[in-house]
Amino acid sequence: MPYTNYPFELPPLPYEYDALEPSIDTETMRYHHDKHFKTYIDNLNTAIAPYPRLHSLSVEQLLARPAALPREARTAIMRNGGGVYNHERFFNGLAPAAAGGHRPTGNLASLIDRDFGGLESFYTELSRSALAVFGSGWTYLIQNRAGRLECTNLANQDTLIAQGITPILLVDVWEHAYYLKYKSARADYLRNLRNILVFPNLILR
Ligand code: MN
Repeated sequence: MPYTNYPFELPPLPYEYDALEPSIDTETMRYHHDKHFKTYIDNLNTAIAPYPRLHSLSVEQLLARPAALPREARTAIMRNGGGVYNHERFFNGLAPAAAGGHRPTGNLASLIDRDFGGLESFYTELSRSALAVFGSGWTYLIQNRAGRLECTNLANQDTLIAQGITPILLVDVWEHAYYLKYKSARADYLRNLRNILVFPNLILR
């Protein structure tokens, strides 16, 4: 991890900028990674720079206890730290179509069958959820406290770290994630993501 704590650094993409074509175009990847993601990193560094007691903390630690953050910097840390956390996972959760990993395996596959009724139904639910994001935000696939998989939406750069929940996979539904290529056709972006979304090898409860 190139940015475990302050000063955080922009991690390189784990593939080339054009590697996700045609699902995500090269220009979108350059702006999304080099500009948007970098801005969250830079703004997070700026927000915590005045507070040495925060300099040893990871992004997850910063986000886990909002009440422990300096009041005057809390909003900036939560917004930009959330942006760092979400984008790192989003880019790492994508891979070229030929790379494989685009179908669930192991007990993740079993739980998708159990809780969604199969992969097709899961994608239908993921798209329904992502299309319902009003404004900027994210759709997460999570395992809830009852152990069931569900799709849930988060506004802006919110996360579920404070609730102890990490996304199994996540979809950026901010317009900057797709607008250059897809314009207002969010559904087409979501459909084409299927070719590049990676299902992690997780042992779930
Ligand atoms: Mn984004």
